[in-house]
Amino acid sequence: MTDLYYPLNSLREGHWFKLICGASFQHLPAVRNLTLAYTLAGADCIDVAADPAVIAAAIDALRVAEKWADAASGRGYGVRGLPWLMVSLNDGEDPHFRKAEFNPAECPPECPRPCESICPADAIAFEDARYAGVIDQRCYGCGRCVPVCPIGHIVTRSYVYTPEAIAPLVLQPGVDAIEIHTQVGHLGDFRRLWQAIAPWVNQLKLIAISCPDGEGLIDYLWALYDLMTPLACPLIWQTDGRPMSGDIGTGTTRAAVKLGEKVLAANLPGYIQLAGGTNNHTVIKLKDAGLLNKTFNTEQNPKSFISGVAYGSYARRLLSPVLDRLENINNNETDANAQTIKSPQLSGRLEETPPLLWDAVAQADSLVSQLKSSVKGKITHCG
Ligand code: SF4
Ligand code: SF4
Repeated sequence: MTDLYYPLNSLREGHWFKLICGASFQHLPAVRNLTLAYTLAGADCIDVAADPAVIAAAIDALRVAEKWADAASGRGYGVRGLPWLMVSLNDGEDPHFRKAEFNPAECPPECPRPCESICPADAIAFEDARYAGVIDQRCYGCGRCVPVCPIGHIVTRSYVYTPEAIAPLVLQPGVDAIEIHTQVGHLGDFRRLWQAIAPWVNQLKLIAISCPDGEGLIDYLWALYDLMTPLACPLIWQTDGRPMSGDIGTGTTRAAVKLGEKVLAANLPGYIQLAGGTNNHTVIKLKDAGLLNKTFNTEQNPKSFISGVAYGSYARRLLSPVLDRLENINNNETDANAQTIKSPQLSGRLEETPPLLWDAVAQADSLVSQLKSSVKGKITHCG
């Protein structure tokens, strides 16, 4: 693992791959194992919730990845160094920063429980008394359970970080980058958040701004740019096409590509990276639209192509069969020996079951390599 600057090169060259673990996702074994598998597959950035336990789980996975990197390279995977660790913050109410909740005791017994079957994160369960209702750590706030409840029983609770709470997260060793989720019209909230962060921004390697489409989007992004500059580190505009939807169907990627194209055309200083609805059709659509770096001239105006893609719900679902198998093994072991119940934080280490580790890396690689191979043979090394 010698390529210390590969994440930045990936941005410049147009094949930056970011794994979004989820701004609200706090299931520590999943965060850890997703981070490990996608790192070994060659991800450039791992984006996690602003929760010290989640950050620690991701850092632990990165340490483990260093030990397994040579073995992954030997198997032909694209790991070239450690990805940057990014922490997601919000400047106001945002669907990425919320949790669903309801009281299962008040559910009608005859309800067919559509909430349980629609949840993409297996965050709603009834069969186990310990887990009745929403499993808070697993819920990432997608909101799909809310409209399917026939009695309108499910609500969401949002949370916003206070400026005082943010500094320790930004300053935490091992955090390379922050992403601020904002929306058109939040300029006052964004300014307050930025003022809280500004003293420490110089310690970061990267700032990302995530924003969905909205009336006046481009003017809003320019206003954010004016507020943030001068910046000592690179800037990414994350175009959040159809938030948290990439696992729903291939069509969700259209909104992501369309919004990426719109922001690209605005010629804002900084890199453009897609998110929100990204999945295994995104690279194909980007190629069809001529938005990937074909000339591979890094001296050219970088805004003539998309710099990267972030994958969230689709990337997590891709690995869920392997991680479910791991969880089953772990549960069986725990049941077989009740005297040695493992800590939830420590159980389910993917690397302790190497066949599953390599299955997970192969799945992760099937997504990472789509983007990376779009510039195959042209990737530079500068470590
Ligand atoms: S459907 Fe979405 S919002 Fe509802 S519990 Fe599952 S992850 Fe949370
Ligand atoms: S759909 Fe609504 S009423 Fe039915 S089990 Fe889920 S939360 Fe309860």
